[in-house]
Amino acid sequence: MLAVKGEISGQSIKENLGVLIIDDEFDQYLRLSRALERAEFGPVRHAADGLQALVLLQTLPTPPDVVILDLQMPVMDGVEFMQKLEESTLRPSIMIVTKADPALTESVATMVEAMGFPYLGTFQKPCATSAIAETVAHHCEAAAPTTAEAPPHAEIDGDLLYEAIKNASIFPYYQPKIDIQTGQTVGVEALARWRDNSNHTIAPNAFIPMAERKLLINDLTSVILKHVLNDMGIWNKLNLSIPVSINISPTSLNNREFTHSLIKQIERRYIPAELITFEITESALLSNASEALANTNRMRLKNFSFAIDDYGTGFSGLKTLSQFPFTELKIDRSFVAQMQHSDKVMEILQSSIDMGKKLGMTTVAEGVETEAQLKLLADLHCDVAQGDFLSEPMPAHSLISWIIDSKLAW
Ligand code: C2E
Ligand code: CA
Ligand code: CA
Repeated sequence: MLAVKGEISGQSIKENLGVLIIDDEFDQYLRLSRALERAEFGPVRHAADGLQALVLLQTLPTPPDVVILDLQMPVMDGVEFMQKLEESTLRPSIMIVTKADPALTESVATMVEAMGFPYLGTFQKPCATSAIAETVAHHCEAAAPTTAEAPPHAEIDGDLLYEAIKNASIFPYYQPKIDIQTGQTVGVEALARWRDNSNHTIAPNAFIPMAERKLLINDLTSVILKHVLNDMGIWNKLNLSIPVSINISPTSLNNREFTHSLIKQIERRYIPAELITFEITESALLSNASEALANTNRMRLKNFSFAIDDYGTGFSGLKTLSQFPFTELKIDRSFVAQMQHSDKVMEILQSSIDMGKKLGMTTVAEGVETEAQLKLLADLHCDVAQGDFLSEPMPAHSLISWIIDSKLAW
């Protein structure tokens, strides 16, 4: 029997964990439901295709926590079932058990995650039902409530954000970028943080969208730049020339006056343009290509560098790459996260790195969380890595001691 650690009020979590198997092969269902029952899971139910499952879901007293889904079924297949389920409020965890080929199942797995369902993995039929039961058990242990979680941050208030930008209480944390071959730090990325009135540090995903909506994003970028220039001034006094990358929002690059003001802000502080890279996401460049091109070219002429950020997640792809004077290609961290689990992702990484190099760009992998990922990226000849495995983002004062500790010289 499988060991289960999690207990809620003395009751096994598994006893309460409802599983719905949607599979037209009755024999497969029987073997699987026996394995789950042997592992003492809660109610295990069955539907022979997507449509039956939808009907069943409407009549069940409590919805299932886990759905084990076949893809090829008569009447309604697994993909159509997922589309219908997406329209409902239910969000069970999804496991796929199928005979479909790996390329298709990988794509379905991506779809499941994009729809916002927790994804438990794929098993190719025929497979050991005990392995499936073990995966489900592992999932319910991981999902079991442990100690009290931090309460979600209160809704960001637009007026507070305005005040924070005005008071410059939004400031950068810095994350080092490491040369994969030499281990040297080749620069840092400035990532916005907001220290609120209760001294909590708020991450940018909680306030950047609001800043965009409230048309405060240019002001936010200026405040970040101001802090960065101050920090660079201090580093300069310590004889440290640390290249800094700054994120620029979609709308900002289309704004001539704003980009002009950025240049002036930097020139006034006598910071060499060669030390500054602006990171832009692909989608940023679509709305007004000629204005964005003109502004980028003007800044490039002044020796500022440009990185295409989150590469691989946007839509403009090769056209944007061929048109804009990028110096750096930052491969999105979702590819790094999947590289060990998918041959297809490895191929995408390899060809993105090769292409970036052929176009004369520095290739940077984001979100490196493990040594194994770093080793694979070295094998692919990626130039630079950034991620929590190397260093998490940190405030300016910690960066200096980090640099001293890692005995790196510029
Ligand atoms: P980004 O530009 O892709 O920045 C990288 C994000 O990945 C950062 O999140 C960083 O903390 C996180 N990260 C780094 N290493 C790892 C890792 O190993 N694993 C994982 N899972 N994540 C890692 P952060 O700081 O929360 O920033 C989120 C996004 O907010 C940034 O994504 C960027 O798009 C935006 N952002 C941050 N600062 C600014 C800013 O000053 N202006 C604008 N417009 N956007 C900003
Ligand atoms: Ca970035
Ligand atoms: Ca990025």
